[in-house]
Amino acid sequence: TAPIGVLALQGGVREHEQMLASLGCEVRLIRKVGDLDGIAGLVLPGGESSVIDKLTRIFGIQEPIRELIRGGLPVFGTCAGLILLAERLADGIAGQQTFGGLDVTVRRNAFGSQLDSFETDLEVPALGPEPAHAVFIRAPIIESVGASVEVLASVGDEIVAARQGNLLGISFHPEVAGDARWHEYFLKIVAARN
Ligand code: GLN
Repeated sequence: TAPIGVLALQGGVREHEQMLASLGCEVRLIRKVGDLDGIAGLVLPGGESSVIDKLTRIFGIQEPIRELIRGGLPVFGTCAGLILLAERLADGIAGQQTFGGLDVTVRRNAFGSQLDSFETDLEVPALGPEPAHAVFIRAPIIESVGASVEVLASVGDEIVAARQGNLLGISFHPEVAGDARWHEYFLKIVAARN
């Protein structure tokens, strides 16, 4: 079976690599254009979205990844990875770009300094009846979603997980919480495409 790529320019790469490997995936770390050949899906990890954005442009993989997204590649973004998937940023730093594809507006660092990091249990019907433990670290929120976006989870009124077709974006870090169900859910999207 084809490998799952993990964008490995900056951020929490290893946790995703380990989570995917524990689910039986072949994992390929993505650093340059050729690494994208033949992947079945792509994970965009947490980290610092503005740094990852810049590095994708320096390494010449921003446009190839955009093309893969347009072509229907399943992509799973967590935290900074969600920011990179967003069509619109409410407050990107000057010149910050995204891959886009997910029809949402995202606000970075949205929970404020008192809530810099926190953990909570989320109701996520798409994952089943057990609540999903979520670790938020300087997390973004999804301020608004387009008509074809399915909201998967919220904290109060704030949307923190959404899916549109083969694109899945969440504000938090399931790989840190050790909950494999988000990755399993993503792998189902990958399997359904193939
Ligand atoms: N605040 C970070 C950003 O804007 C995201 C934080 C994270 O990925 N944990 O990219």
